[in-house]
Amino acid sequence: MQKVVNIIGAGLAGSEAAYYLAKRQIHVNLYEMRPLVKTPAHQSGNFGELVCSNSLKAKALDNACGLLKEEMRLLGSIMMEAAKVSEVPAGGALAVDRDIFSAYITNKLSNNPYINIINEEVTSLPKGITIIASGPLTSDQLTSTLEEMLGSPMLGFFDASSPIVTKESLDLDKLYYKSRYDKGDASYLNAAMNKEEYDAFFDALINAKRAPIKEIDQCYFESCLPLEEMAKRGSDTLRYGPLKPKGLAKDENDRPYAVVQLRQDDVSASLYNLVGFQTNLTYGEQRRVFGLIPGLENAEYVRYGLMHRNTFVKAPVVLNKTLELKNYPGIFLAGQLSGVEGYVESAASGILAAINAERKLNDLPLTVAPIHTMLGTLIHYISEADPKTFAPMNANFGIMYGANKKNRPETITRSLDAIMKWQEALHG
Ligand SMILES: Cc1cc2nc3c(=O)[nH]c(=O)nc-3n(C[C@H](O)[C@H](O)[C@H](O)COP(=O)(O)OP(=O)(O)OC[C@H]3O[C@@H](n4cnc5c(N)ncnc54)[C@H](O)[C@@H]3O)c2cc1C
Repeated sequence: MQKVVNIIGAGLAGSEAAYYLAKRQIHVNLYEMRPLVKTPAHQSGNFGELVCSNSLKAKALDNACGLLKEEMRLLGSIMMEAAKVSEVPAGGALAVDRDIFSAYITNKLSNNPYINIINEEVTSLPKGITIIASGPLTSDQLTSTLEEMLGSPMLGFFDASSPIVTKESLDLDKLYYKSRYDKGDASYLNAAMNKEEYDAFFDALINAKRAPIKEIDQCYFESCLPLEEMAKRGSDTLRYGPLKPKGLAKDENDRPYAVVQLRQDDVSASLYNLVGFQTNLTYGEQRRVFGLIPGLENAEYVRYGLMHRNTFVKAPVVLNKTLELKNYPGIFLAGQLSGVEGYVESAASGILAAINAERKLNDLPLTVAPIHTMLGTLIHYISEADPKTFAPMNANFGIMYGANKKNRPETITRSLDAIMKWQEALHG
């Protein structure tokens, strides 16, 4: 009988897992419900769609997410391949044209003879070895199935996405190009505000009308707070957060009180997203309030900011470091649902789940990503964190055993060496 791995969800994690297995000549049933069934955030039927920012975060290896991306490159990641062909200028960050990025992934997977794409919503688990990578917006029925299986309620929090505007609708006489402290290319458009302008913007923001939130419990994820929620913490909070003016003065005589940054969102530089402007304001209020920012008075929105429920499991209780569910041998979780946070982290976990799904298929003992790698560190963290306070985790050096600022170069070398040795040990 043909050996097959089922994967639920062709998002970032599911696409990585499918690609990895197909390259190992393992047959995959890849279930994806879009575009037949929509999620509140995805806009297309494409695989590997980026639902909010078009940034895959920093490129530099001395940044935790930069290191994780390099580890993924070594492991043959499809996200890294797609980023290479869709990169747009973004200073020190790796930002992509989201359409080219997801089209690349969709084409690669759709044309692979080892991948059988099944366009339907999964409500109960298929038989056999399965990777569940249905993401933070897992459909309601599958969420109920998982809750029943795991015997404890899933956790949930809110996450938000920022608006995208057309460049031609911006007043380029008021905006200027610059990256913070002139690092990398001057690829961001900046909107500077004086105190008067900032105060007017701030007042409008905290008094603006918000879209109703259906869920009873309002609980925000600290690192992705809606702008208006952040503003409620005090008038200076934004000036120390997304509107920080430091390193963004137009010239040496300029002293902006606050600066809004806009990041290029597509290859042709016709679209820009408002950095850190994730929001739950109603669409009309977004036009009115963000229109108070100098240069954005007549901005045309191709996507408004949104806010959604975000689902993940209590990883320290239900998940092994192999990403296999403790009580369900042969069922693996990957992506944001597993308790990692972020595009890159979600995709990276898909590779580990695939490695172990292959091993399960071949009756080999499961493997753990080496602790001295960023991938290993992240997975160790989510499976060992305190369940009472558990929240999804980004890649960062704070959770990496023995890492500090002084030993960063050694930490990077050790991590990349460990990934290569691991890969050699797995496949020779
Ligand atoms: C609104 C929002 C904004 C975010 N913004 C960012 C950001 O800017 N930067 C960042 O780094 N991270 C962000 N995240 C967090 C996270 O990194 C992304 O959600 C990321 O896409 C997670 O990858 P994933 O593979 O786990 O899930 P996804 O990429 O969402 O993939 C899951 C796939 O499963 C499919 N699916 C769901 N249920 C079923 C089912 N029952 N049957 C079949 N298919 C199903 C979905 O259609 C989807 O294609 C955001 C999350 C949300 C919700």
